[in-house]
Amino acid sequence: MTRLSSYVVQIPLKDTNKTMLIHGYTGAIDVISNQTLEQITQSKHDLSGKISISNQTICKLKRRGYFTNLTREEEIAYVTKIAKLLHQRALIGKKSFGFLITYNCNFRCPYCYESKISNFGNGWSKKTFDTKLVDEAYAAMTAIEPNSRLHNKNLLLYGGEPLLKINHEVVKYIVEKGKSLGYTFSTITNGYDLAYYSDLLAPDKIASIQVTIDGVRNTHNKNRVHESGKGSFDVILHNIGIALNKGTHVNVRMNCNDANISEIADLHAIFQAQGFISNPNFNFYSALIYDYLGEIKNKDSHAKEQQFMNRDRFINISNQYPNHHFQDEGVFTKIKRAIESGKRIFLSPTYCAAFVGSYLFDPYRNIYSCWESLGNTRTIVGKYHNGEVTFNENLSNMHTYDVTKKTHCTKCKYVFLCRGGCPQKKEEKICEMIPQIFKTSANKAYRATCFPNKSIV
Ligand code: SF4
Ligand code: SF4
Repeated sequence: MTRLSSYVVQIPLKDTNKTMLIHGYTGAIDVISNQTLEQITQSKHDLSGKISISNQTICKLKRRGYFTNLTREEEIAYVTKIAKLLHQRALIGKKSFGFLITYNCNFRCPYCYESKISNFGNGWSKKTFDTKLVDEAYAAMTAIEPNSRLHNKNLLLYGGEPLLKINHEVVKYIVEKGKSLGYTFSTITNGYDLAYYSDLLAPDKIASIQVTIDGVRNTHNKNRVHESGKGSFDVILHNIGIALNKGTHVNVRMNCNDANISEIADLHAIFQAQGFISNPNFNFYSALIYDYLGEIKNKDSHAKEQQFMNRDRFINISNQYPNHHFQDEGVFTKIKRAIESGKRIFLSPTYCAAFVGSYLFDPYRNIYSCWESLGNTRTIVGKYHNGEVTFNENLSNMHTYDVTKKTHCTKCKYVFLCRGGCPQKKEEKICEMIPQIFKTSANKAYRATCFPNKSIV
C-alpha cells in the first residue's frame, strides 16, 4: 500500500496558491500547487486509484519520500535507524575546538548566564591562558584528532570576555601559532577593547566576530554595562567600524526582550548611517534573551528587574520585519541554502556540535563540550595536560545523546529539523513553537529566492 508519509511538513506560502513541502527524513524540499496538495492529502491512508495526478508526479513525490510503502511503525523504526547512522557519521567527522581565554569579564550585564559562576561579576576568576597552556591546548587538539584534515579550521576564542585589553599578548600568541598551522579564528566578544586587537583583525587571523548591541544608545547602555559604569554603545560602534575596515566579518546580535524589541528599526538606521549595512561583511540579527538564571537572579537587583519575552511574541514580531533576520533555529538559512544549492535540507539528529565533536579548553586544563555550561565543574568532559587528554563519562553521555532519547521526537515530522531542542534551555513550548518558526522562516526563504521557478508541480 502506498500512502502519504507521516513526515511531510506542509507550509502554506502566503499570497500564493502554493504550499512548500519539506520531508522530515529525506530532506526533500518542493513547492506544489494547493490543488495537488488537496489530492495528496485526501489520499492519506491509501493512494491506489484514488487520485487524479499524473503518474510522473506520483513517481517524483514517491522518490522524494512524500509517498511511502512503509507503515507508520516502519517509518518510525526507519527514522530511529537513520538517527543512529547520522550520529555515528558525525562522531567520526570534523571536530571543532576553542580556547576559553579567561573567565574574567569587564561587563556586568544583568542577564548574563555566567552570573551563576561569577556571582554577578563579583567573583570572576582572573585565571587566564598563558603561552605554556596554549601549547598544551594545541597538543590536545592533535591528541583528540590526529588527522588535522578532520579539524574545523576555524577556532573559537571565548570567555568571559576573550578580548580584554590585558589579554592581548596571549591572544596574539594563540592567533599567530594557529595561523602558522592553517587555522583562522572567530570570537564572541563584547567589543569594548576591540581597538587594542586591530593587529589581529584580518580574514586570515580573527576572521569573524560576534558583538552584542542591545538597542539604541540609552537602552544598550543600561543592558550592556561596563564595570566602570561608563556607557559602552559609542565605543562598540566605533570598534565595529575598525573590524570592518580590517576585513573581519562582524555579526551584531541584538538580545531582545519586551523593553527593547521596538528599537530594531532605529538600530538598523544607525548601522545604515554608519555605512555598515551595505558592507557584505556585516550582519545584524535579533535573538531572544533566555532566563538562564532562574531563582538566583533574586540575589541581584539589576538581574531581578530584567524582563523576558516569550517565544510566541518574538515570532509574531519577527513577521513585522520581513527584511530583518531573527534567530530562528537556523531554519531560514537552511531552507534558503537548500533552495539555492538544489540540495536537500540539512538534517541532524543532534541539536548542536556539543553532542558530536566540540572541545573547549579552559585555563584550568578542563575540557568542556557545551558552551553554556562553562565553569560548571560538573559538566567538564575531560582534562588536558602536556599533550595528554583524558575524558570522563560526561563525554560519552554527550556523544550518545541524540533526538531519539525523546521517543515522542522520533514520531515527529520535525525530528531532524528541530532535533528535540537544546537540552540546556529546556524550552517548554518547543513543540508548539517549531511549526510557527517554520511557517515564518519558510515564507521568508521562499520570498528571498527564485523558488517559484523550481516548483516541481
Ligand atoms: S547550550 Fe545547548 S545549543 Fe548551546 S552548546 Fe550547550 S547544548 Fe549546544
Ligand atoms: S521537540 Fe517537539 S517539535 Fe521538536 S522534534 Fe521533538 S516532538 Fe518534534
